[in-house]
Amino acid sequence: MARFIYADNAATTKLDIDAFEAMKPFLLNEYSNPSQPYSFSRESRKAIREARASIAECINAEPDEIYFTSGGTESDNWALKGIALACPEKKTILTSKIEHHAILNACKSLEYLGYPVTYLSVNKYGEVDLKTLIESITSKTLNVSIMYANNEIGTIQNIKELASIAHNNGAVFHTDAVQAVGHIQIDVKDTDVDLLSASAHKFNGPKGVGFLFIKRGTKIVSLLDGGAQEHNLRAGTENTAGIVGMAVALKKSCAQLESSKHYLRALEKQFIECLNLTKIKYIRNGSQNRIPGNISLSIAGTSGETILHRLDLKGISISTGSACDSINTQVSHVIRAINVPDEYKEGTIRISLSKDNTSDDILKIVEALESVCVKQG
Ligand code: PLP
Repeated sequence: MARFIYADNAATTKLDIDAFEAMKPFLLNEYSNPSQPYSFSRESRKAIREARASIAECINAEPDEIYFTSGGTESDNWALKGIALACPEKKTILTSKIEHHAILNACKSLEYLGYPVTYLSVNKYGEVDLKTLIESITSKTLNVSIMYANNEIGTIQNIKELASIAHNNGAVFHTDAVQAVGHIQIDVKDTDVDLLSASAHKFNGPKGVGFLFIKRGTKIVSLLDGGAQEHNLRAGTENTAGIVGMAVALKKSCAQLESSKHYLRALEKQFIECLNLTKIKYIRNGSQNRIPGNISLSIAGTSGETILHRLDLKGISISTGSACDSINTQVSHVIRAINVPDEYKEGTIRISLSKDNTSDDILKIVEALESVCVKQG
């Protein structure tokens, strides 16, 4: 039987085996509530403390700047709503047209509550032009939220410069780094971001756990009210096993950033070379500076949905856009924002590779694409 090929790693990743092993004791034996004062809770409390320190080190933060959440969606919502509610005197939010729906829909809710939101355009590579931000930002701007890397086309933004513009105008800067953490080097001190969202299942950690980095001194209120966990800012019994697994997965990913990048760039190169030997007419989306392993293609005269289903029948998993959009057959907001020409835009697919993919997978994916996209005879 043909090998199943998973090439949708921007949607989610396989749980790392070491992360899984590290989680097991906290699911089976060390199941205590970390908030309890008795000695049985000591191990889980220690594990959370060590995980916090380890995660902080991976992004050059301080341990007390890491707040555990249930994942990217919660971190994004908290960053936007928590800042908005903490600073009622300033209201305007600036974001981009290509953010994930966790940001776009949180912005919609804030608009409903009376916070004006400006959605910045991007260029054809999906980059937010610094000039566009300078022209849009005012003294009333409360928060600028621009994603570190796009989930559909992989474009990496100039976060350091964008954050600097926000700060020069007295605004807070948040970045949704869900696609970036564990994939490229992140340094919150160097980029000087105030808030940064991350999600474990995007870097071989477990699902349902993530974190929000909040720079010391940032004015923010809690989103989830209840107990005193997470320095009184995020209530709810800690997901000890998830937090431990996330820390192991992130440390491992960060230790392999360079080697993974070289491996994935080589697979991308092989993919494009093979694709160029076919008659497939395509555009590759995104900037040169993109997340390793991301290949977003818009193919002329076909539909991304058709390609996805035909490849699925051949045992290959890819995406047409973001996974959260998979029931929506419209051209995605990202593809519209970067102005992919009409002839191509319906035929957009995203292949996102991981270190588990092989050179043989690349040959099989291109062969399958050719059989689906090129009329034979
Ligand atoms: N932000 C981006 C850029 C994403 O790609 C995703 C997931 O696809 C999210 C936020 C939501 O993360 P989670 O699935 O952990 O809620």
